[in-house]
Amino acid sequence: MGWTFIENIAQRLGIIPDLDRKRSMGASGPLRTYPDSEHWHDHVELDANAWPEQVERRYSLVPTTCFNCESACGLLAYVDKDSGQVAKFEGNPHHPGSRGRNCAKGPATINQIQDTERILHPMRRVGKRGAGGWERVSWDEALDEIAAKIRASLKTGAKDRVVYHVGRPGHEGYTNRILKAWGVDGHNSHTNICSAGARTGYGLWQKHDRPSPDHANAKVILLSSSHLETGHYFNPHAQRILEGMMDGAKLIVIDPRLSNTAAMADHWLPTWPGSEPALFLAWARMILERDLYDRDFMENWVNWDMWLDAAHPDEPRTFERFIELLLDEYAEYTPEFAAEECRIPIEQVIEAGEAVANAGSRLCTHVWRSAAIGNLGGWQVARTLHLLNVLTGSVGTEGGTSPNSWSKFKPELFDEPPDPDGWNELHFPSEYTLSHYEMSHILPHLVKDGRGTMDVYFTRVFNPVWTYPDGFSWIGMLENEDSIGCHIALTPTWNETAFFADYVLPMGHASERHDINSYATSAGKWVAFRQPVLREYARREGREVEFTHEVNPGEVWEEDEFWNELSWRIDDGTMGIREHFESPYREGERITIDEYYQYTFERVPGLPEAAAEEGLDALGYMRKHGAFLIEDATYSKHEEEGWPTPSGKQELYSQTMVEFGYPEHAIPHYRIRSHVHPDNLQGEDEYCLLPNFRLPQHIHSRSANAKWLVEIAHRNPIWIHPKDAAKLGVDEGDLLKIETEIGWFVDKVWVTEGIKPGVVGCSHHIGRWRRSQDRGNRFLTNEVTMEDVGEGRMRMRTVSGVEPWKSDDPDTNRIWWRDGGVHQNITHAVQPDPISGAHCWLQKVRLSRPGPDERYGDVEVDTNKSFEYYKRWNEMAKQRETHPRGERRPLWMKRPLSPRKEHWFMPE
Ligand code: SF4
Repeated sequence: MGWTFIENIAQRLGIIPDLDRKRSMGASGPLRTYPDSEHWHDHVELDANAWPEQVERRYSLVPTTCFNCESACGLLAYVDKDSGQVAKFEGNPHHPGSRGRNCAKGPATINQIQDTERILHPMRRVGKRGAGGWERVSWDEALDEIAAKIRASLKTGAKDRVVYHVGRPGHEGYTNRILKAWGVDGHNSHTNICSAGARTGYGLWQKHDRPSPDHANAKVILLSSSHLETGHYFNPHAQRILEGMMDGAKLIVIDPRLSNTAAMADHWLPTWPGSEPALFLAWARMILERDLYDRDFMENWVNWDMWLDAAHPDEPRTFERFIELLLDEYAEYTPEFAAEECRIPIEQVIEAGEAVANAGSRLCTHVWRSAAIGNLGGWQVARTLHLLNVLTGSVGTEGGTSPNSWSKFKPELFDEPPDPDGWNELHFPSEYTLSHYEMSHILPHLVKDGRGTMDVYFTRVFNPVWTYPDGFSWIGMLENEDSIGCHIALTPTWNETAFFADYVLPMGHASERHDINSYATSAGKWVAFRQPVLREYARREGREVEFTHEVNPGEVWEEDEFWNELSWRIDDGTMGIREHFESPYREGERITIDEYYQYTFERVPGLPEAAAEEGLDALGYMRKHGAFLIEDATYSKHEEEGWPTPSGKQELYSQTMVEFGYPEHAIPHYRIRSHVHPDNLQGEDEYCLLPNFRLPQHIHSRSANAKWLVEIAHRNPIWIHPKDAAKLGVDEGDLLKIETEIGWFVDKVWVTEGIKPGVVGCSHHIGRWRRSQDRGNRFLTNEVTMEDVGEGRMRMRTVSGVEPWKSDDPDTNRIWWRDGGVHQNITHAVQPDPISGAHCWLQKVRLSRPGPDERYGDVEVDTNKSFEYYKRWNEMAKQRETHPRGERRPLWMKRPLSPRKEHWFMPE
């Protein structure tokens, strides 16, 4: 975005703010309004609430990191020295990823810690699971009882019956260490409803399964939907996209919905969902035809010769012939074809394609969730998008897209237990040979299908009953004590899944916990320290703290200390677990939390030296600054490291796909048409529901206790194009019944040109609920009834919307909104992609006016139908199940927690 002459003069004269990135970009610029870190323990500022009186307030500013999305942006907690409590959060200018800036969710951390309904003490179920009865227990009781259950399970020799299922991760490596110490293949994650589709596409090329776009230095920024730019890495990416644009980069956004990012774009291409590979392949063909490919990168770093050997053994083995044959292979991907598949004008295909084709090594592309997680074959989106980087040689370059692992720091832990001696079939069923992550979204169906059960099941900051598709199947599994012997919810706030737990254990929000963070939010590599700020404040004030729950509100604890304590208690002295929790500094004694972080930070490259310059040790530096920049930029690492694939190159040709039964996908193509492709819809009566876009103010399930965020966004109407609204005869605010494959919900209509005709949208975050016996999150939850109406049919009805209530916080009595939205996810069928394993979020739906007894917020689901429907999708994977050399899955592919190698083979 270039500034006009007048704007430039106005900036220099100070008439308008100085927005020039070179003079205001944070770590390298002044950020003059931030206090100097030398005075962070003794910061004085005027109390804004006392204005016009000038009342001074004294603060200790303690750095930590935000826990409200994955980016882990820096926060500065302002601890009021009079009250000893956190008064507010601002950005931390020393954090290399966020550089002092945050999105709305960062400062709203104060709402979460001051939430009058938060869980402050360990709770144990009373009565039937899910019935809503709870009693307070001590940490000692909870730890001893849970430890006994885990001990009993481990002593049977089972390696797959104690499970940790994580929603919001955010701590590098620690829980895997715990599971390994217990000897269980027990890691489950939310990734298959999130990024597994994109990961498969990237993983096939380079094993590194995540992209890291260098937006700030790009010539062209190509985003396949803005999903990530309003969700994951939102703030760090958004600020760098703007910097790139201020330096002249063009922004292209592919998204059927006019997102905030699309609204800022030079080119918005509202493609039909799932058609993106057709567009990218058409652009690939343009690059090849016009000789705009990077010959040096292609010839040296791509396994083009393997494709020639496999597909064209009789052809000359020359690079020139390869290019000709690739052009033949891609002959069908014309601009006309792309325009027709995407349902956009051909001029748009060509105009945006020319910008892409001419971007050279500064083509910066990105896809994360969005189309890649929406469609059957969504993984093709990432694979074909990355092809554009490969062709233009913009892989690992300044202004291009690098593997995320180059910019992500992996901490060294004080002890690494051996890999688990078993394989968890419930997480990696044998038919999903290429599934990039655990098949978590079909867990209730696998259990119902008799493929396994669990003794102890931890959900950690994880709310599948609400967030996942088909929530009634989750409720069914959680309520059944034969399926799950004991369910423990580790969570900072109540949620729909915690209602169905045996123990609810309160864990800390951002400023109440320890974690190590490192994310590829830019081209550099950094590490950050999420620290419990009142613990650090106590230390600065000369007070000793043993356990973090001594300073946190109530008895809110934090996970490292919890896991250490639990592990110690599981071991009765015969199990070899305790040896993994001993201090590296004091032989035979239990490790302390300070020793754990001391050990890790002492091993961060460059950190001890930087700390010494300030007269500190490494832990002291991180306590003071909260973050450390390890490398400025991590470009071109392949020149030293190569690519960790079977061929050692970027894999245009995948022998793995051939061997595992998918030869038609040996190279990137558009062979799979999405389940919501127009050919698969029943004419004009069926629509595509886009249910997985994010609102920038919310996270999936942990922002309902943040009053500022809820005040900004609390409804999730159905986005519908005026043409479709006219066809259906509905106006703004009218009710529509949206029928999925397994049920229906009733929502209000929002008529907008910001959605493609034929597609309807509904944001992911809203529609939270509680029953009369449940508690928490009243800023955003409707009170509902739940009824089993027979033959597997479950019904939910809103009995009251959001209401004000009296509490210690006067704002709870000032709530002016009443509409808490509708829970759409629970009506979605599970649709596991047979290759990536990812849930295909997009739903085929029929739209109609609700019947006389059907009201706003009503939901009905047929759980028998949902199981049958799961079986149909599961069959797709079973039909192709292939295990070359007896391998369960490719040996070179990643697994988040890998068992010993012998378990990667099918049992005899
Ligand atoms: S982008 Fe927003 S929610 Fe995410 S870590 Fe940064 S401030 Fe927090």
